[in-house]
Amino acid sequence: MNHFGNKRLSDSQDLFLEALKNRFLAAIYSKDPEQTRQVYLQISAHARHGLPYPGETREKILRQVQAAFLRFYEFVTSPSVNLSAPFQELKTLLADRVKARQDRICHIDFDVWRNRADLAFWQLDRVIENAITVQLTSGCSHFCRRCNEWALPGVRAHFSFAAARTLLERLIAAGNTDPALYGASDPLDWKDDPRSLADLLIPFAHQAQFSLITKVPRKQKQVLLRLHENNIPVSVSITDKNRNRVAALEASAGIHLQKQHDSNDLLIPAGLDEDFIHIKSSITDAYGTEVTPEGIFIIIPTFTSALYPMGHKKLPVTRKTSVFPKKKSDVRHCWWIISNPWKWWGNQTPGSICPACSTFRWKIFCWITDPWICPPRGCGT
Ligand code: SF4
Repeated sequence: MNHFGNKRLSDSQDLFLEALKNRFLAAIYSKDPEQTRQVYLQISAHARHGLPYPGETREKILRQVQAAFLRFYEFVTSPSVNLSAPFQELKTLLADRVKARQDRICHIDFDVWRNRADLAFWQLDRVIENAITVQLTSGCSHFCRRCNEWALPGVRAHFSFAAARTLLERLIAAGNTDPALYGASDPLDWKDDPRSLADLLIPFAHQAQFSLITKVPRKQKQVLLRLHENNIPVSVSITDKNRNRVAALEASAGIHLQKQHDSNDLLIPAGLDEDFIHIKSSITDAYGTEVTPEGIFIIIPTFTSALYPMGHKKLPVTRKTSVFPKKKSDVRHCWWIISNPWKWWGNQTPGSICPACSTFRWKIFCWITDPWICPPRGCGT
């Protein structure tokens, strides 16, 4: 037992709540007001009696239900059935939980996280090798209207410095050197006082190219500058809210930062913009695993829709998980072959060791079929 409670109970509650959310939406689409109201009442009762600290997944589902309620307000409400009381109750409950979690922001140690995950060694190895996202914090200090990840408002938990360092070391040892260090979070929100993201990443600057995109939280300019000075690539996601602030930072520091999303035409309705009607293409295109302070998941890309508003399906990894998706792109071989073309050519014997990942592999065969991707090691899956 720890801050986040019993994992099995938490996972089963998440799945149950997701099924309720889907039934709620199905009742709306099938224009069944009676069923819609009944399911909404079940959702609010479930939230009221659920675990005191709903995890990230569950809180996101509850927020999606509330957003759908408002989007279809005319249909969901009726003069004969008053749903404003349960709606307000759920709204208050969510607000109280935000406050409770922010009042006790915690740092998760590696052993606590690993024990809670309760995975076999080989499973944890597969998770690390195929990680596409390592979310260093839960929650986000911004609350962007267009957050395709439906990030929870306010930071609630961080990996401890030692835990984050251990994770990065394991990723590098597994040859997985390019995961995103953010998900439903801003990487520059991460800290374990007095250490900042710069203290965490600078020692790894020559071994990895972790992906970082930030909105530049207000008190983190110095951290950004330290990362920049140490040639650690960081992209800044630009919106109307931070455009001037970022321009001022560039001017005062005499630097140029890589920008993303700087467009008035960002056509990814998400978060509060979600209309729960249209199906959009996904912005997620990668298969793999996701590590967060609160859990471990398999990520399967989907179309962005009311069923999967984040453009992917997240499956909790448990002891029963026997299959892991292989991370889609792996440039280790590409890089090694480009930088060692003669060695690569001379090494083309069946069953030789791949120098990029130390995997035993039949190189000619791999070159013809799948030159850039290593098979997972160890369990033979
Ligand atoms: S900064 Fe990123 S993760 Fe945070 S709310 Fe905005 S879009 Fe979402």
